[in-house]
Amino acid sequence: MNAMENRKSTTGKVIVLLAALALVAVTNACAQGTGSDLSGAQAGQGLPGSQNGNDSPGAQAGQGLPQTQVRYDLLNTAITISIYEETDDRVFDDVFNRIFGIEQAMSTTLAHSEISTIAAMAGKTPVLLSDETYAVVKAAYDISVESDGAFNLAIGPLVKLWGINTASPRVPGLTEIEIAQNMSDFGDVILSDTEKSVFLTREGMSIDLGAIAKGYAGDAAAEIIRDHGISSALLDLGGNIVTIGCKPDGTGWRIGLRNPIIGESGYIGVLTVQDKAIVTSGGYERNFVSGGRFYHHIFDGKTGYPSESGLLSVTIISDSSTEADKLSTVAFVLGLDAGMDYLLRFYEDVDAVFITEGFEIYVTPGIKDSFVITDDRFSLAG
Ligand code: AMP
Ligand code: MG
Repeated sequence: MNAMENRKSTTGKVIVLLAALALVAVTNACAQGTGSDLSGAQAGQGLPGSQNGNDSPGAQAGQGLPQTQVRYDLLNTAITISIYEETDDRVFDDVFNRIFGIEQAMSTTLAHSEISTIAAMAGKTPVLLSDETYAVVKAAYDISVESDGAFNLAIGPLVKLWGINTASPRVPGLTEIEIAQNMSDFGDVILSDTEKSVFLTREGMSIDLGAIAKGYAGDAAAEIIRDHGISSALLDLGGNIVTIGCKPDGTGWRIGLRNPIIGESGYIGVLTVQDKAIVTSGGYERNFVSGGRFYHHIFDGKTGYPSESGLLSVTIISDSSTEADKLSTVAFVLGLDAGMDYLLRFYEDVDAVFITEGFEIYVTPGIKDSFVITDDRFSLAG
């Protein structure tokens, strides 16, 4: 075969392959489920059976499918990986090792992490980062600018001041809040794309990736599972859900939407999805009461206080878990009107569920047919 024929034959093969791929893409949608039970989803935000499995780290939960492993020692949360086809422990090991590496680099609490080093060098010198950490910091910086500070990667001083991630949170004094608020200025974060370095211009500043790193870990974990050739899996990183493919019976994943009322548990609605990440930001996740008032962990950098936007929670449904994580925080801080407007305007491929303090639920048009409310104290509005 001469070179020309060879090229023709290769081109022909590529066309056949592309045609086959297109067919797969068209026929790839999960079938319609019966909608009669939730057991297929198993994990999910607040569904009974989430965090199922043996309590010991890395243990395997029983025989048969799904194969599930749970870890409680990563990212300050429970991580449940359920794989709905035959596989071996190597996949789980690879996933948990990957998440371990991300935490080691991006944690605010581990003293040797890259993010802690940036804080230690604040006001002194730029810090060179690994490609991966730089990419996540850059994404956090970009969304900070784009959302005009609703997401604020430099929120570290405020988060630390309130002690919201510690055993002893407290309401600080006004002066303290003012100082920390001033220190939480993302305008004073200097990035260098060429050096892949970050410099915080003032001592006392710090970066917090708490609103995006878990989402990033979800994407990284899903990539590893797909690389192992697995096409049906459910990942639950402390309530951040990533679904891969369809359930083994060919239907979509039925994911419970966590009840956002403080002190309650369970779920208040069900979303049916495939190949989507589902991430929620809500005041119920971490909070405390002081002087009869309730305070939570998502801050409004413009006030220095936990954001009071009238929402109990916002859930984002996206192809990317990183995107879902950052946008859930943005939308929660912006509130219903500005948050919905922002998403519809800039993120047309993303869907969302907003739950207000008045128990009203607003959803984007894309998921009207795949979301069902199961708690009659809540009603669909809009
Ligand atoms: P999430 O649950 O994804 O909304 O992230 C909340 C976590 O991100 C908090 O525990 C803080 O560590 C950090 N955080 C709080 N407020 C903000 C904010 N406005 N922008 C970015 N990160 C924040
Ligand atoms: Mg987030």
